[in-house]
Amino acid sequence: MQAVLSVDLGAVAANWRLMRDRAAPGQAAGVVKADAYGLGAGPVARALQAAGCRHFFVAHLAEGMAARAALGPGPMIAVLNGFAPGTDEEAGLLPVLNGPGDIAAWAAAARAAERRLPVLLHVDTGMARLGLAPAEIEALAADPAPLAGLDLRYLITHLACADAPEHPLNAEQAARFAAIRARLPAAPASFANSSGLFLGPEFASDLARPGCALYGINPMPGRPNPLRPVVTLAAPVLQVREIPAGTPVGYGASWTAPRPSRIATVAAGYADGYLRSLSGRALGMIRGRPVPLVGRVSMDLITFDVTDLPDVVPGDRVQLIGPGNTPDDVAERAGTIGYEVLTALGARYRREYT
Ligand code: PLP
Repeated sequence: MQAVLSVDLGAVAANWRLMRDRAAPGQAAGVVKADAYGLGAGPVARALQAAGCRHFFVAHLAEGMAARAALGPGPMIAVLNGFAPGTDEEAGLLPVLNGPGDIAAWAAAARAAERRLPVLLHVDTGMARLGLAPAEIEALAADPAPLAGLDLRYLITHLACADAPEHPLNAEQAARFAAIRARLPAAPASFANSSGLFLGPEFASDLARPGCALYGINPMPGRPNPLRPVVTLAAPVLQVREIPAGTPVGYGASWTAPRPSRIATVAAGYADGYLRSLSGRALGMIRGRPVPLVGRVSMDLITFDVTDLPDVVPGDRVQLIGPGNTPDDVAERAGTIGYEVLTALGARYRREYT
């Protein structure tokens, strides 16, 4: 008996359309890096393409190749972490240039190929993580010659605090991006991620890059989630046992039954990406009723106290993630973010796409 991860591709498409409408009159890309946040880049990218998405972002070259195989020749696929010229093996992927070394390498490749090569250029406007640093932007603004031979498709930047609307860095990044755009050679802009699309008009651009929102994660923590849930994870009950009060359960004997109890042992664990930090903190849902996870999450198994649900039997399914127990809810219990909950989901589940 295997746990089943169900991905509602109709909901992914609906969530993308919501982001596209927020991005209008600009376009909305689909960010499908990290295997579409753990949900399967091939099926997800094809569903987005069918919904009208024509621009995709991945993080790694190999992800770009896989996306190209799934999508065919038409859509733009840009690789956020960049890649060296000559390594994309004709997949027609676009590199994101993140520093002067990238610019020099691609400009040299353009000279060697005797044609303009399409690229995206990433400028750091306040995150200090990736992209041209302020001094490098200054140098390029003073002398844009290194960009000669490159076809600058988008100038991009990334928001550090978009999920915290009041954070002053948001406005600072918007102002810096506008100033940088005015000084560099003209190119379309790509700015907001999912949360950025809820911040205001100064975060609008030619191409938004929503990721988490497509997968149902709330881009506005603390406010009602406007998105459709995408993921359901249901794992089977392997055994149900009656234990007397005082019986410890699981590794480390970290939980002891306070009363005569019924324990359902369920086939999922941290090897499946069900985070160990959920030990003693998670809820499962059986037939719409919550049951507490007790004891530690182990590699392949978890245990629930089903004393109050006397009709639970082996073969029943416990919903570990789903409506009423969303990735954001699970993340809060694990002390992390919905992104990590989704991207951690392991390869052992049987996957169903609806
Ligand atoms: N753009 C860049 C550069 C990113 O790194 C990410 C994700 O981390 C995204 C866009 C998508 O962000 P989100 O999932 O918050 O919408």
